[in-house]
Amino acid sequence: MKAAAFNYQRVHSIQEALALLANHGDNAKLIAGGQSLLPSLNMRLSNPEILIDLQGIAELKGITFEGSLVRIGAMTTHTEIQHSKIIQEQLPLLTEAVPHIAHRAIRNLGTWGGSCVLGDPAAEWPACAVALDAMMVIAGPKGQRKVAAKDFFLDLYTTALQADEILVASEFTITSAKRVHYFEELSRRHGDYAVTGLVCSLYLEQNKITQSRFVYFSVASIPLLAQGLQSVLHNQSISDLSNPSLIAQAQHSVQAEIQTLSDLTNSAEMKKHLLGVLLERAMKKLVS
Ligand SMILES: Cc1cc2nc3c(=O)[nH]c(=O)nc-3n(C[C@H](O)[C@H](O)[C@H](O)COP(=O)(O)OP(=O)(O)OC[C@H]3O[C@@H](n4cnc5c(N)ncnc54)[C@H](O)[C@@H]3O)c2cc1C
Repeated sequence: MKAAAFNYQRVHSIQEALALLANHGDNAKLIAGGQSLLPSLNMRLSNPEILIDLQGIAELKGITFEGSLVRIGAMTTHTEIQHSKIIQEQLPLLTEAVPHIAHRAIRNLGTWGGSCVLGDPAAEWPACAVALDAMMVIAGPKGQRKVAAKDFFLDLYTTALQADEILVASEFTITSAKRVHYFEELSRRHGDYAVTGLVCSLYLEQNKITQSRFVYFSVASIPLLAQGLQSVLHNQSISDLSNPSLIAQAQHSVQAEIQTLSDLTNSAEMKKHLLGVLLERAMKKLVS
């Protein structure tokens, strides 16, 4: 199938894009890399009058590190994130996650912002954004606002972004505290969406855990931060993470807290089981 006819306009500033969004309301759609939008137009799941192309807005592109903030522009591609020295040094969790996103051709065009705004619960970036406590920078008719990643993903394919707003960037605060991370996903074939995935980011002080953020994806309608696990692991020594009784306590905590949903091929029970499998692997790996 082919998309229905639409108008197209490439814009060169955020203001220009916001003005077009305001003029056309629900009949306008922003396009970033088109990796999700174009298939949905071709399948006639979406039928906008006008596509507003963000490729011409330099302000939305690239990665910077200034003061203690790493900033990823919304139009930065998955491949640019993979090859960024700043990301390799400051947010290596993201470097590790990139190869799990689709295939090279999609990674070359798909963007950080497109993935976050789409809010696919099986996608890697939303989970990483929550695990790394990112702030989502949003531009709208009333100016800029910031929303913490944990409050940005509201429901299946639904975020805190309003129809007349644009995601500009995500910001990550880098502190001097020691940070360790873990990423793993289970998928049927490499490049497929995850059946279940887990992203962790831990802060340590003298090898004790001061903050733990374990985020599961592809288990519910949004990426889920395991809240209860934070108190289970608080002040534990990193070397104790392989202790079987601590692992069992942690597994019990996530399996009691997280309500899993089935997808087309995997039951909710299977996903609940996988919460524990991935957690045990993560805890054992984080020790080393
Ligand atoms: C075959 C295939 C396999 C894939 N596998 C994976 C996978 O394993 N993991 C994964 O995470 N992703 C996967 N993807 C999706 C891919 O990662 C895309 O990057 C992602 O869908 C977003 O695409 P895009 O950046 O091109 O955004 P687009 O498709 O252009 O836009 C997506 C949506 O976001 C909106 N949007 C885009 N940018 C902004 C912005 N700055 N502000 C406001 N709204 C905006 C658009 O209006 C649209 O609604 C896959 C895609 C395909 C086609």
